[in-house]
Amino acid sequence: MKKKSIESFDKFLRKLFPLCRSLSGEMNRKTLKILQEIIPLKIKEIESKTKVFDWEIPLEWNIKEAWIKDSKGNKIIDFNDNNLHLVSYSIPIKKIISWPELKRHLHLHKEISDAIPYRTTYYKKDWGFCVTHKQFELLESLQGDYQINIGSELKNGSLSYGELILKGKSKKEILISCYICHPSMANDSLSGVLLAAFLANYIKSFSNQYWTYRFIFVPETIGAVAYCYLNKNKLKDILMGLVITTVGGPGSFSYKQSWEKDHVINKVIEEVLKEEKKDFVIHPFDIHGSDERQFSSPGFRINMSSLFKDKYYEYDAYHSSLDNLELVNGEQINETFELYKKIINKLEELVFFKSQNMFCEPMLSKYDLYPKIGGSLIPNNKSSDYISNILWLMFYCDGTKDLLSISREIKVEFKELLIIAKVLKSKGLLEQL
Ligand code: ZN
Repeated sequence: MKKKSIESFDKFLRKLFPLCRSLSGEMNRKTLKILQEIIPLKIKEIESKTKVFDWEIPLEWNIKEAWIKDSKGNKIIDFNDNNLHLVSYSIPIKKIISWPELKRHLHLHKEISDAIPYRTTYYKKDWGFCVTHKQFELLESLQGDYQINIGSELKNGSLSYGELILKGKSKKEILISCYICHPSMANDSLSGVLLAAFLANYIKSFSNQYWTYRFIFVPETIGAVAYCYLNKNKLKDILMGLVITTVGGPGSFSYKQSWEKDHVINKVIEEVLKEEKKDFVIHPFDIHGSDERQFSSPGFRINMSSLFKDKYYEYDAYHSSLDNLELVNGEQINETFELYKKIINKLEELVFFKSQNMFCEPMLSKYDLYPKIGGSLIPNNKSSDYISNILWLMFYCDGTKDLLSISREIKVEFKELLIIAKVLKSKGLLEQL
């Protein structure tokens, strides 16, 4: 089983790694189509220039070729050798230019001389090439002008994304998001895309899961913004979520907390890491990061966490040509996959109740839950425990806190609290989510 899933990760890594993905374009569609070999993903399109909150869907970008030739016609830099050579979303261009002009459009990795850096120009009409230090020196040493050709196309088209909803017993949802906009880099975030697809497949095999799972495969930021815009009302049913990215490095595990650090999603991840005896680092919520920035924004406030194996920003090869299939492999992704499966198993065990009297306390005596003769109740007296537990439960059951967290908070055994919750449910005071 383990061997089989490692092989599958390796197979799809090899298939998907070479594709030049971006915010939009044919290669994003092709990526989503390949993912359909794993899960029945729905591929959806949003037209260019659609307004989505404060943003606008950009023109669709496609690229056929891009190169720099010397004055004799020798190709010095070729997009076909590595798609990171071209700044993503570069405008089409074909001209002869001098060294000072070319130099302004060249990008180098600051620390690693033999790495090609990853650069984009999504929202500024510009062009550029990314090269190693050696290539830069070679270009500089050449005599004469340079022929530049970028065979790109920016057109009115659409932005593609994938969606898979796995319906559970509850209409409440867990959101699982990953981003499909990175060209040939393996850890950021192809590893996350594949892990998300395999995780969807894992949940699909349950056939009777409790929660509804919403998986989305979007280009980072603009895709998440657009998704939130198009699904504004549906996102109200989401209890919490996971952003899956950078899960396949050779290094250590870490996790980024959701915006409310005491939220159960963080506790679940931490429990899994501890139970599996993994060393890990905690990254507190930070406004820099991935699509949790959108899902946790004031209008949505969804708690989104991420478990990483070599987190973005933190590994040397990040956003460069060294983030490749020598760095990342199926075995490493599978290690993180095993942890994500355990996270899902734990999420499935969570129980949430929501008060049906959200405004002020219910009148408990009406339901035979309170002494009808007033004045006899003294808090902290043993006889008042049952009523105290009811009151605490009604106080915390706003639908955002799970029963296990409440039981830890008020130091009452989970089993005991569950019995009370069921009584309150039978009297119509609580609804199970
Ligand atoms: Zn990135």
